[in-house]
Amino acid sequence: MLSFTYDMLPSRVIFGAGCLDKLAEEIERLGATRALVLSTPEQREQGAEMVKRLGSRAVGLFDRAVMHVPIEIAEAARDEARRSAADCCVAVGGGSTTGLAKAIALVSDLPILAIPTTYAGSEMTPIWGLTEGGLKKTGRDARVLPKTVLYDPTLTVSMPARLSATSGMNSIAHCVEALYARDANPIVSMLAEEGIRALARSLPVVVKEPSNLESRSDALYGAWLGGVSLGTVGMALHHKLCHTLGGSFNLPHAETHTVVLPHATAYNAAATPEAMSRIARALGATSAAEGLFDLAVSLGAPVSLGAIGMKAGDLDKAADIAAQNPYYNPRAVTRDGIRALLQNAFEGRRPQAQASQAVVR
Ligand code: NAD
Repeated sequence: MLSFTYDMLPSRVIFGAGCLDKLAEEIERLGATRALVLSTPEQREQGAEMVKRLGSRAVGLFDRAVMHVPIEIAEAARDEARRSAADCCVAVGGGSTTGLAKAIALVSDLPILAIPTTYAGSEMTPIWGLTEGGLKKTGRDARVLPKTVLYDPTLTVSMPARLSATSGMNSIAHCVEALYARDANPIVSMLAEEGIRALARSLPVVVKEPSNLESRSDALYGAWLGGVSLGTVGMALHHKLCHTLGGSFNLPHAETHTVVLPHATAYNAAATPEAMSRIARALGATSAAEGLFDLAVSLGAPVSLGAIGMKAGDLDKAADIAAQNPYYNPRAVTRDGIRALLQNAFEGRRPQAQASQAVVR
């Protein structure tokens, strides 16, 4: 018998090639007249294009967004928002840029209009992150959830193949953990399974033909579903491990997700047979963990922690940190279990097939 709680996220989504043309109209809809545009230094040009599109509705471009929102950059952006009397932020970019807009919203209540250009999914979540003194703090706050999101797949065409692959796997990771979340519910599970399906069928085309707009659109659709999954239900071991590896060992965000996902999935497989069946079904594979590993390989994405900068000598410390502070996971988290998982991920081993998978129709 069904019994669940479902908190729907209040955001407006406009999806489709060319929807960027609605930018000025959507800013007006927010009741804003002074937009501060945010980008990374690498995407300055895209930021400048937004300023141009907004005309007199833009008050400037702050182009210093970087990974993990260092507090110094957040403070500089907050100062700029105050100085320019901005009444909204337009974030064009990946999770780093959206994260910077959230850092501003957290102290000012400015509404955010997000224009995602990767598959990270931050635009659909009320989760913020700030890094201070080498430590990344995260939290949930309804004020940081973007009010409007413009998903225009034409902006993702410039994403390099490697980032497309790893960012797509990052989004699949949100879907995977949503399927066995403590607060999982049938609606989000449906979205999460569909997200995996859309990404698994589109990413192989995207990495071979980066300008194939149909597949880019399909991948962005999957990424949206991944973002909703991440924003709506709680995550578990996989996200905790990636947070530890990124925060304490400075490993790249999307690549870390790509490498760890098959192993975290294998770790939880026996405890979550129904989720495993749904993941495998969406991948068109016989096993969830193996299917995820094989997808990463087929995309030419990294599959070993060693290949993305982790040092063998740090694995013990990583296991210690990840086993501290209890958190929800469908299978008990033990220090030895995590240490073994990390060794497999470090070496890039293909996970072993798991025996128990429920049949889901
Ligand atoms: P990113 O935003 O750091 O982007 C990586 C690089 O790719 C940057 O140089 C960026 O300018 C460039 N780039 C982005 N889109 C491009 C495009 N279309 N074409 C060319 N270059 C492009 O990477 P990300 O993986 O999207 O975000 C990672 C960050 O987001 C991490 O800090 C992570 O913790 C955070 N994140 C937060 C949430 C959340 O809900 N709060 C969710 C997911 C990720």
